[in-house]
Amino acid sequence: MDFSFANARPEKAYFYKVNQELIKALHEKELQQLDHHIQELHYMKCPKCGHDLRHTKFGEMVVDRCTSCEGVFFDKDEFSQLFGEPDSHESFINTLHTLLVGDNPKT
Ligand SMILES: [Zn+2]
Repeated sequence: MDFSFANARPEKAYFYKVNQELIKALHEKELQQLDHHIQELHYMKCPKCGHDLRHTKFGEMVVDRCTSCEGVFFDKDEFSQLFGEPDSHESFINTLHTLLVGDNPKT
């Protein structure tokens, strides 16, 4: 809507401004509700199959494991905390084997 303030009466300009602020606030509230709804739909859901993820304790760390496909998912920095630096392949393989199979092949 095109509204010229030059020819408007003061009350029309006031209500136009109030309406614009209310529309903006309503739009922002709708966006927040949509973000919240999207977050609820995806929180603790497996990105591969969509089933629930369950917190699973692994050593001192808690990782997310799918209740259906048993995929394991890591938050930021959890992978390197578990497996160490990329050049320590033996540590990586041992830890991965322990995570997937349940025992350490070196012990
Ligand atoms: Zn899954």
